[in-house]
Amino acid sequence: MRLLRTSEGLARLLRCGSTVKKAKNITQLLRQLDASEKELSGLAGETSGRTNLIQKISVLRARIPTAILTHHDRMKARGKMSVAPVRNGVCGGCHLAIPRGHVIRLRDPDELNVCDSCGAFIYLAEEEMVLIERAIVPKAKKLAVAKK
Ligand SMILES: [Zn+2]
Repeated sequence: MRLLRTSEGLARLLRCGSTVKKAKNITQLLRQLDASEKELSGLAGETSGRTNLIQKISVLRARIPTAILTHHDRMKARGKMSVAPVRNGVCGGCHLAIPRGHVIRLRDPDELNVCDSCGAFIYLAEEEMVLIERAIVPKAKKLAVAKK
């Protein structure tokens, strides 16, 4: 399978009858999965905690569409972050700037986005949502005037 880079391709995947459809929920699940998998790798030998975590991980994985899980596993196998927050227009995975137009698209809860540089699923950090809402309004007005 080709590595999916475009959010269009991923959006198409999301429509293929999966349990979780909203991109926003998927990034949340991926964040939980990522945290649980990290925790598990740090829990060598400790049995009861491990069993709980393994169970939690399998529940999370069952809710995430297969194609997205495959991408997640591939990223992890390469030692990369599979899901990363975007702050100040910069990807938390590779620390490279994300084009402004792409950052704005991150506000759409139905769209699953991937960083063009590192391939991580990206989401807007919670505190950034507010800043972008504020920044967008005056800019949109200016653009409307320029078109006339
Ligand atoms: Zn990146």
